[in-house]
Amino acid sequence: MKPKKILGILGHKIDYSLSPLIHNTAAEHLGLDYYYTIFNIHSAESIPAAIEGMRALGIAGFNVTIPYKERVVKYLDQLAPSASVVQAVNTIVNQDGLLIGYNTDVEGFAEPLLPFQAQLKHQSVAIFGNGGAARATVEALKNLFEPSSIHLIVRNMRKGEELKQDLVRRSMYLKISVHETDEPATLELLKTCRLIVNATPIGTVYANAEPGTKSEPLLPGSSYIWNDQHIAYDLVYSPPMTAFLEDAKNHGATVISGIDMLIGQAARAFQLWTGKDMPLDIVKAAVMKKIAASSD
Ligand code: NAP
Repeated sequence: MKPKKILGILGHKIDYSLSPLIHNTAAEHLGLDYYYTIFNIHSAESIPAAIEGMRALGIAGFNVTIPYKERVVKYLDQLAPSASVVQAVNTIVNQDGLLIGYNTDVEGFAEPLLPFQAQLKHQSVAIFGNGGAARATVEALKNLFEPSSIHLIVRNMRKGEELKQDLVRRSMYLKISVHETDEPATLELLKTCRLIVNATPIGTVYANAEPGTKSEPLLPGSSYIWNDQHIAYDLVYSPPMTAFLEDAKNHGATVISGIDMLIGQAARAFQLWTGKDMPLDIVKAAVMKKIAASSD
């Protein structure tokens, strides 16, 4: 039997990850000799050894997730422009021993917004969060429809300002401002934004949560901000319909689930590793079936 090429995900406490299901479903459907598995790395100190192990063992590719996306950057041989601009890697390709870092979150985030490109052109946008996903989101939005302004909504103004300075320096995109969550002025600002993105984990229901645990709202008591011109985009994918999206939908807004980004970023990584297009409908059906089964 021909040995399979190994793919996997590096992260911390990620037994819940849907990535093995996504990639193994796609590889099996296309009859490709790949097997995707989980590598839990318990401490950041082990990252250099894990990366060298990839080279030594000829592992074909890794995804990288929280909290190592930024940490792996310095151990790679090359960075693609998508990873270089956000200084975070979520996909590593082992090209005959040369390790190249990509950030497919940027494209994965952009994909579900393509149908709304004309509607969003030069509009203003709000992004909750100042972590790696917020960075990838800014990069994608800047390229997609040149927003008139991007408002970062954060709980820690110092971190928000640091991210702003860094983004401005790297991308020369100047129309970024930082606002504190829970401020009445911030809620007023949200009314004027056509797209509101949650790039924090708020609203996640973890796989090991007590049965019946509900998704926490991102904007408690603020339903009045929504109108039918809004698009609400949640990067959280568990559950697929978070309290944030539910509230937006109930008030007429268009909603986009993190599941679409999850599959979008995976499809791009799969393409980089195998050279093949992921069968999106088959993969999405498998993911939705798994989520439905685990919420029973
Ligand atoms: P990260 O780098 O750890 O950043 C998390 C951000 O959320 C930080 O700005 C943090 O603020 C903020 N935050 C965390 N808990 C908060 C709370 N209770 N209230 C207010 N702010 C809070 O993580 P990340 O990589 O950016 O990921 C963010 C989320 O996006 C995660 O849920 C991740 O699963 C999701 N994501 C989804 C996809 C997808 O494919 N759908 C892809 C990437 C990420 P502080 O800095 O103040 O702590």
